[in-house]
Amino acid sequence: MAYQSTNPYNGKVVKTFTELTDTQLEAKLHTAHDCYENTWRHKTFAERKAVLARAAAIMRERPQEFAELITIEMGKLIAQSLGEVALSAAILDYYAEHAEAFLAPEKLTTPRGEASVESSPMGVLFGVEPWNYPYYQIARFAAPNLMAGNVVMVKHASNVPQCALAFERLLEEAGAPAGAYTNLFISKDQVAKVIDDVRVRGVALTGSEAAGAVVAERAGKNLKKSTLELGGSDAFIVLDDADLDKAVKHAVSGRMGNSGQACTASKRIIVVEALADRFLDKFQGAMQAFAPGDPLDKQTTLAPLSSAGALKTLLGQVDEAVGHGARVLMGGGRIEGQDGAFMQPTILTDLAPANPAYKQEFFGPVALFFRVADEAAAVALANDSPFGLGGSVFTQDAERGKRVARQIDTGMVFINSAAVSSPELPFGGVKNSGYGRELSGAGILEFINRKLIRVN
Ligand code: NAP
Repeated sequence: MAYQSTNPYNGKVVKTFTELTDTQLEAKLHTAHDCYENTWRHKTFAERKAVLARAAAIMRERPQEFAELITIEMGKLIAQSLGEVALSAAILDYYAEHAEAFLAPEKLTTPRGEASVESSPMGVLFGVEPWNYPYYQIARFAAPNLMAGNVVMVKHASNVPQCALAFERLLEEAGAPAGAYTNLFISKDQVAKVIDDVRVRGVALTGSEAAGAVVAERAGKNLKKSTLELGGSDAFIVLDDADLDKAVKHAVSGRMGNSGQACTASKRIIVVEALADRFLDKFQGAMQAFAPGDPLDKQTTLAPLSSAGALKTLLGQVDEAVGHGARVLMGGGRIEGQDGAFMQPTILTDLAPANPAYKQEFFGPVALFFRVADEAAAVALANDSPFGLGGSVFTQDAERGKRVARQIDTGMVFINSAAVSSPELPFGGVKNSGYGRELSGAGILEFINRKLIRVN
């Protein structure tokens, strides 16, 4: 598991980093635990707020510097990288501002004496994070927990080490004491050791089902709390009364944002028969407009995938789908003449339930298109998935949209938009998409001891 920056636009290795030895890892665990026990948990909300608000301000002062690292390491279009930097700063600010109110003591009504519930931190927390939004994913985990008085250690994905270090430096520059936020370049065996360590009190993973199962099993064995934010194959339902142009616009951005590498991307486009032909015609036209290029160039509209390996996996899934009867309406292959990991924007149709693709997550610019008879069939198809992360419903009748949303077995449903993430909106899923929530007031309560204090 080498920690290495490889620019997916040209395949060139930019920088390689060595993993920590066990002795170095132990020293970092010691520092983190010491920081928790002797410094960070004793700080006031105002003191912690000063650090997080300063970190947000630094991101806003130097967005280009942070954004370019994202683009160089995982290929995101620079405008989207800048958007991610802004969102990460907003998350830091959001918890700096609201944590104290979220964690305020709650007085209980009790027939005798007095009782209240107070929040206290749990200790050293460990996050295992993915590359697709290198700062946003960490901000979601670190900001609420740091404000709550926990300290965090993060094992970031091995292909975004410069972003991992940039975030650690950011908090240091903002005034966080040593051990409050720690980046760990460690192996998978060492991940298990960290979870086993008695000083570590909770584990959060964002990533694939496979990694989630490994990490949650380890946490469970140690009787430690875990949260999992895993994959998804979100349904994007277009009902007969939808605003067609709006639906097409959101389907395109929902499927193509981050080159399709988002957990809440609009992966299964489900359109009722009455609109299916017209929708597909416009959707295909819009998907054809993307052109590959250097993601650092503001004019580029199609970025490479995060790595050559990611492209190979996606191409393999498309081949398998076609082998089981799917039809390639457009795309389906890599973009020739480019050094980078570029996938053609792709639409697959005729996906029968027996096709493996029907239940898979496609992590790239490949839309699975389904036509259905009506609203009930759309809901049934949306729920016929191992995943339960998000989803969208398009209708001009908001009440109808809410009715449909309530029938969809996911953690989030967006009416008349593709999925969005914002500090105040809880984020997370059910079924194989994991458990627990990040962001909003819910996100700060995951690794907190809500302690009852009863006076008789
Ligand atoms: P991944 O392979 O699971 O990697 C995620 C993190 O887990 C990385 O830091 C990785 O380290 C680590 N990891 C992988 N296997 C591990 C193991 N056996 N033991 C310990 N750590 C392990 O995920 P990915 O495929 O790169 O990322 C995409 C997936 O994440 C998709 O399924 C996507 O939907 C999901 N995702 C979910 C959310 C959400 O909020 N629900 C958000 C973003 C992404 P290395 O890099 O060193 O392997």
